[in-house]
Amino acid sequence: MPERVFNFFAGPATLPYDVVKEAAKGVVNFENMGMSVMEISHRSAQFDRMFCETQKNMLEIMGLSEDEYGVLFLGGGASTQFCALPFNFLKDSMTADYVVTGGWSKKAVKEAKFFGNVNIAASSEDSNFSFIPKEFNLTKEAAYVHTTSNNTLVGTQIKDFPETGDVPLVSDMSSDFLSRKLDFGKFSLIYAGAQKNIGPSGVAAVVIRRSWVEQARKEVPTMLSYATHLSKNSLFNTPPSFPVYVVGLVMKWILEQGGISAVEAANNRKAGLLYSYMDDSNDFYRGTAEKDSRSLMNVTFRLPSEELEKKFIAEGIENDLFGLKGHRSVGGCRASIYNAMPYEGVEALVEFMKKFKAAN
Ligand SMILES: *Cc1c(COP(=O)(O)O)cnc(C)c1O
Repeated sequence: MPERVFNFFAGPATLPYDVVKEAAKGVVNFENMGMSVMEISHRSAQFDRMFCETQKNMLEIMGLSEDEYGVLFLGGGASTQFCALPFNFLKDSMTADYVVTGGWSKKAVKEAKFFGNVNIAASSEDSNFSFIPKEFNLTKEAAYVHTTSNNTLVGTQIKDFPETGDVPLVSDMSSDFLSRKLDFGKFSLIYAGAQKNIGPSGVAAVVIRRSWVEQARKEVPTMLSYATHLSKNSLFNTPPSFPVYVVGLVMKWILEQGGISAVEAANNRKAGLLYSYMDDSNDFYRGTAEKDSRSLMNVTFRLPSEELEKKFIAEGIENDLFGLKGHRSVGGCRASIYNAMPYEGVEALVEFMKKFKAAN
């Protein structure tokens, strides 16, 4: 086995190799303290500096100001945010709008229903979530509008978010967070499990508009209350310290690449290479998402038979291309090509796809 293979898993997923190597140093001796980053107090000056710098860099990458937005690093994954969001903001007799574009959106809806009315503002479930709806049936004075910016399982991505006017716009960006330039200032709350695109599992990033938190329901259990965490700059209790450290290294890596525009350009180039080869393959590799809804992060496709798909996935591993199996709920194949996937990885994949097609 080579020291490094190409990892197309959907999550936990590939990280920049330089980040992995740097993290290994911090695991042994963080900032020359003679202790691991996993061993130091989250109240130490060194940890606090790293933590605040990570928050600051994330906002800088997004083009947001610290005065307007707070960054929280919370445990419980993106899935806990499915329930924290309505707990805080879906107050009695209010309605929240949900745009349902995949399995993760459905899970978010399920939690919201524990707290209040849910209006499905749009859904593509009838066509197996193969596209992103363009029309939204929004509620006047909704508590918020929830979207899933990238649909990890089905390989679609929202290009045009609904125009919500004064209604707060929320997005689960777990699988494409910081992969493309967006007007992040349009959103009142963005959350993302780190393990897809910005770090290891164990932490979710929540970027939240400070003024909205003031309007949150007061009767929320302490640990699920955004006000709790915001008022303590996300250090109310012990944060997931090691995962945040790695997220911090990824933020520095993004800045070194030239920021989000440079990362987006690289992502366009990678996805362009893969999709254009698929489109030229005479339907041997058939994309499952409609073209104008295609994700730049998760590329989903089918081969002519399930047998060939199994063979493709197995031979991929023999060629040091890992994680090409589609999600168990949708089948087929999927190549996740997050920020950290180098262009060479996609080139290697396309070369393998060509050879596989010729041989089968
Ligand atoms: C993976 C994923 C989640 C769930 O994340 P956890 O951190 O495992 O809870 C939620 N939403 C999307 C879009 C995802 O890709």
